[in-house]
This record gives sequence, structure tokens and C-alpha cells, in this order.
Amino acid sequence: MIGRFGDYGGQFVPETLVPALAELEDAFNAARNDATFQTRLADLSAHFSGRPTPLYFAKRLTEYCGGAKIYLKREDLAHTGAHKINNALGQGLLAQKMNKTRIVAETGAGQHGVASAAVCAMLGLQCIVYMGTEDMRRQAPNVFRMKLLGAEVRGVDAGSATLKDAINEAIRDWVTNVRTTHYLLGSALGPHPYPTMVREFQSVIGVEARAQILDAEKRLPDLLIACVGGGSNAIGLFRAFRGDADVAMLGVEAGGLGIETGKHAARFAEARPGVLHGTYTFVLQNDDGQIRETHSVSAGLDYAAVGPEHVYLFDTERAGYTYATDDEALDAFAKLSQLEGILPALESAHAIAEAIKRARAMRRDQIVLVNLSGRGDKDLQTVMANQ
Ligand SMILES: *Cc1c(COP(=O)(O)O)cnc(C)c1O
Repeated sequence: MIGRFGDYGGQFVPETLVPALAELEDAFNAARNDATFQTRLADLSAHFSGRPTPLYFAKRLTEYCGGAKIYLKREDLAHTGAHKINNALGQGLLAQKMNKTRIVAETGAGQHGVASAAVCAMLGLQCIVYMGTEDMRRQAPNVFRMKLLGAEVRGVDAGSATLKDAINEAIRDWVTNVRTTHYLLGSALGPHPYPTMVREFQSVIGVEARAQILDAEKRLPDLLIACVGGGSNAIGLFRAFRGDADVAMLGVEAGGLGIETGKHAARFAEARPGVLHGTYTFVLQNDDGQIRETHSVSAGLDYAAVGPEHVYLFDTERAGYTYATDDEALDAFAKLSQLEGILPALESAHAIAEAIKRARAMRRDQIVLVNLSGRGDKDLQTVMANQ
């Protein structure tokens, strides 16, 4: 079946969107084999986004843990401060190739909105970003950044006024304006071809990291760790290692205030399949199948569904999934800042929290490679409020 990862994924959309998704899939497949497109993407990845990002040996964090060596893939050093730019750039170029001049995007924390706005400014595309009004309040500096970059930010008051409501509005806009408009979805989510397409644009992370660790250590890591919101930075890291049977993979979700409180975004902790935003995947829902409110200290992990390919990796036991709580992430934020001079995004701090636990239990000749998905400057207000 179309766009499936095992039983998961697919295309659960209104009929009006089916031709647009087919057009997008065709354009994406053509771009994959188009040398001009790939050269342009590689050139802008280098000179606009700042790739390759470094792989950094976290010496003091390693010594603190006293176990496996910890390496950090520095997506925090990519332009606009997170891995989001990789996907925004790829889809922006694809929109141009499809002769679409208008971009709609959704954003939770604002990182994907900022990346989309930056790419649209650079390519001369109109950019409209939907954002829940609750998120606009929590992430005011990013709202201002998007506006400075020339984007129009449209507040969404519906529902909980957060990410899922912003996605609903972005899809509604797309359905209405599909001839001129591309929907620049921000994670490995949504209907086919988005989960595959976003994975491919993010897979540069793992391709680089694999070559960099071989260069540094002459061997592959024992364990990969990445935080999982929709799942794009994790799948982008994991992809290049999928054939390396000795490399374990671990995704870290938002444990929020603890699983037992119900205030979290740990989809794998409850493992209930459902459909949200066009894809069949694990969804946090109540007994009637209504989407539950989620909670995380990090807005980027605060979403009720997970990218469908992760459920496939879970079912086939190729990857494992766990969670870190708000408090654990805040502790890891402080540790990395003080031991390595790096303020991580609170999303990434979830991965760091798990890396500290795992490295401690491993041998000194083993290697953990963590995806540091973004920088923490956007989270200063939240961290201050939690001190
Ligand atoms: C958006 C974001 C995430 C979560 O999204 P994924 O698609 O799961 O990668 C994680 N880290 C940062 C820094 C983000 O901005």
C-alpha cells in the first residue's frame, strides 16, 4: 500500500488533497534523481545552512559519566539553530520546482516557522505560518523573528491553541489554495509522501555523522540517541545506520510530569494506534479516540502523534523508545551547559538526559552518539521560570 511503514503511515486525507499529494510525490521523486536540484541543495546546505555540522567529542560530560564516550552531532550549529533548516530548505526548493509561490507552514515552538521563514526570504517565496495563540504567548521571541524574516504569522485560537490546532489550519489553507500553495510540513509526520520526504531531507544528519565517527574513532558507535517529537531529527540520524546491525538506536520522548500523571507526550509508553493529521500511527487518545492534551516543558516534543516510521522501527525492534521527564531534561540542560559550554534546546536535553544514564552503564571503550538537535537560546524564559 502507498507510503506504508509496515501497517503504519498511509494517506488519510480529504479527496481534494489527493491530487496535490500525488503532484508532490512526483516532484519529490523527480528531484531525487535530478542532478541540478541535488547540486543546488548541496550548495545551499553548505553556504546557507552551514553544513556539515561538526561531530563533537564531549570530553567533560564523558568523564562526568565515567562510562562510554559521548559524541554530539551539532545540529544546534545549523542556521536558525536546529535541524529544522534541512527540511525547510529541501521543501522550499521543491516548491520552487513545482512553481508554487506561496508557502504555508505550522509551528509549535517556532523553530520550524523560523526555518521556513528564513528559507522563504532567501528564495523569494511568500510565507504564512500558522501558530496556536498559546504557543505565540510562550514563544514570543520566535514570533518576532518570523515577522522580521518577512513571514505572516496567523494565530490559531481553536482547541488548545497549540501545534495540533495550527496543523489543522495549515491543512485547511492548503486545501483551499492548493494550486498556488505548498504546505511545508515540519516533521516526519502527516500523509504520504511527507514522512518519507522529510526523512530524506533530514538524512544528511546521519550520513555526515556516520562518516565523521568513522573518521574520529575508526569504528561505528554502539548506540545512537535522539529526542522524538514528530521524529524528524531522530529518523534523520538513524537512517544512515539502518544496515549497521551492531548500532543500537534509541528515541527519547517527552515524559512531562510523569507517565502516571497523564501529562506527557510519550506515545510509545501507551502504544495506541490511531489516525492524526493524515497518518496511521501511535496517537495519545482517550477511550473514545479523542486526541488527548499533551504536556512537555519543551514545545517541540509536545504533540499527540509520532512519525509512522518510528512505530515500524519499534514493531520490528530495530529501535527502542523511552522518555525523559521535564525535570530530567532541565537537569541535563544544566549539566551540558556547565560541563561543555553548550546550551542545548530543551528538546535535545531529553536525549542528553538519557545519554547520561546509558553512558554510565556502558564500558569506556564504547561510544554513544547523541543528536544535539538544536540550541537552547529559545528556551531561556522557560528555564528561568523553572529554576
Ligand atoms: C522541532 C524540534 C524537535 C522535535 O522535532 P522532531 O521532528 O522530532 O525532530 C527537536 N529538537 C528541536 C531543537 C526542535 O526544534
